[in-house]
Amino acid sequence: MKAWLCLALLAGCAHPEKCALRLPFQSGEARLVIQGNDGAFSHTGRYRYAWDFRMPVGTAVTAAANGVVAEVIDQFAEGRPDHALDERANLVVIDHGGARFSVYQHLSPGGALVAEGETVTRGEPIARSGNSGFTSEPHLHFAVIDHRNRSQPACFANVAGDGVPRQGQLVRPRAIVLPPSTLPRDTFSENGIALESDVPARRFTAPLTLRGRATRSARRVVAVFLPRARDGRKQTFFGDLDAEARFSIAVDPAALAELGPALDFVLALEAADGTYRFDFSVPVVVRALPAGGGSSSAPTTRSR
Ligand SMILES: [Zn+2]
Repeated sequence: MKAWLCLALLAGCAHPEKCALRLPFQSGEARLVIQGNDGAFSHTGRYRYAWDFRMPVGTAVTAAANGVVAEVIDQFAEGRPDHALDERANLVVIDHGGARFSVYQHLSPGGALVAEGETVTRGEPIARSGNSGFTSEPHLHFAVIDHRNRSQPACFANVAGDGVPRQGQLVRPRAIVLPPSTLPRDTFSENGIALESDVPARRFTAPLTLRGRATRSARRVVAVFLPRARDGRKQTFFGDLDAEARFSIAVDPAALAELGPALDFVLALEAADGTYRFDFSVPVVVRALPAGGGSSSAPTTRSR
């Protein structure tokens, strides 16, 4: 239900990451919102939370969220601003669970690309847009609706700001970049260490500083990097403890290149006698950024 948070609570849409929906057309395409929520032309009453996106007949319409196709109507050919055609719009309805549906309306005759009962994935093309039913020009009418066809507040994760497109706005689906995961702060708690900085959970691509606190007495903290195929090699970085038992260790991925690309990593406490032990490690890949920036899929050659 969390995914639908911002449907129930518009305020929850202040952070588009919380919006479950994606714009119902493909990325890279900019579309004019010819009518938004509470639009005077026809988005009133139970239609108030709908959007009309101008698009040429035949444009790919995509699923705004994962779901199951609940209804497909695509036999109607006519379209014009005439209320006699109110119930003669081609449409696809997708069931998202919890009696929440998305509706895609005014599609081309024969334009459905999915069948009732079919499972669809967010972003998947489901139909070709059109101009069927009560409509003033070719466009896609989109809304989230409930079991009584009442439109519901909604927002799109790939729309800037609050995720709610406004009338007159040109919207282009934004690429959504997920921030990489970071290690839980208690990852090394059994080793007597509490992390206090964000450490990538898997992929090291830039110099980083490991910060934390020793929760047991120790001489200093050691960061150990080993090839996953243990071959006796390792690279260690040490950090002294200050009066509050805090440490800071700088790690340069470039310094780990000699060990190979797939490593294990662990933080441990070094005892007074200079020994340290650990029973587990976390997998990391080390991808030092090539000098001069830029990326290449070709194997990099290391200068020696
Ligand atoms: Zn509309």
